[in-house]
Amino acid sequence: MPADIINSTRKLFSLQREGNRQIQSFIGETTSIIYAPFHVIDNNLYDSILGIPVFSRLPDDFDMGNYTAEKPDWPIAFIPALCPECGWDLAGERDSMVLLCRNCDSAWHHRNKRLEKIGMGYIPGGSDNHLFLPFWMIRTGIFGIDPGAYADLVKSAGLPAVVQEFSNEVKFIFRIPAFKIRAHHFLRIAKQMTFVQPLDEVTEKVPDGTMHSVTLPVTEAIESIKIVMAGFIKSKNDLFSALIDAVIIPENFNLVYVPFRTGHHDLINEKYNIALNNNILSTACNL
Ligand SMILES: [Zn+2]
Repeated sequence: MPADIINSTRKLFSLQREGNRQIQSFIGETTSIIYAPFHVIDNNLYDSILGIPVFSRLPDDFDMGNYTAEKPDWPIAFIPALCPECGWDLAGERDSMVLLCRNCDSAWHHRNKRLEKIGMGYIPGGSDNHLFLPFWMIRTGIFGIDPGAYADLVKSAGLPAVVQEFSNEVKFIFRIPAFKIRAHHFLRIAKQMTFVQPLDEVTEKVPDGTMHSVTLPVTEAIESIKIVMAGFIKSKNDLFSALIDAVIIPENFNLVYVPFRTGHHDLINEKYNIALNNNILSTACNL
């Protein structure tokens, strides 16, 4: 099962850092099962491609009966790429986790075997030589730690907090890349975008320009919040322990496209002072 594979990998990494409490997250991980043909002759297991025995002698605990020689039962379900609201064709690249309707300006992602609508918009400012990069804007609270540690955590991280009008609850809005890139770039851009103050007004429409695909689902972006936050903490003290115990509970999320000017080597948003090298995106397709 993919969950078992992830757990074994997690254990492997944890063993290497035994003794240190840590915040660890696998973001945008992919697990694959590869089926290969084997056959049995005279109680020995053969690789059907190479035609040679896999073992000189089968291990004692190997039981062929545990492996079914049938075609795996893989039901394939298709969801029509039509807008559930207006029936228009939905647009999106092959690898996109989100489909967009340019007719009624809506966005949809796949959840529980059906398309579910998500809030979406863009920051105006793009023109012909711009690429809109997608970000998950996740509004969340942080729970499960004592008020003193919480106050220190917020202060040290310097997070722009949003205080609810009718309660004392403090919420944060994280802006996490909705596209896969290597971890250190991912954390840097998440941090820079989260600290943009103020973000321009979001126009609740599909942007009229070139867009990068959404390749990281919001569930993975939420998983990354704790580790993004760990990067904000300036002082090296027991705040990390407080953060390990903290529980991140997202309240809502939206998808926001942000324009970046495309240069020879970089994608740049001058206003927010964020740049990333073109190679970062072009090499991310294998992640
Ligand atoms: Zn529509």
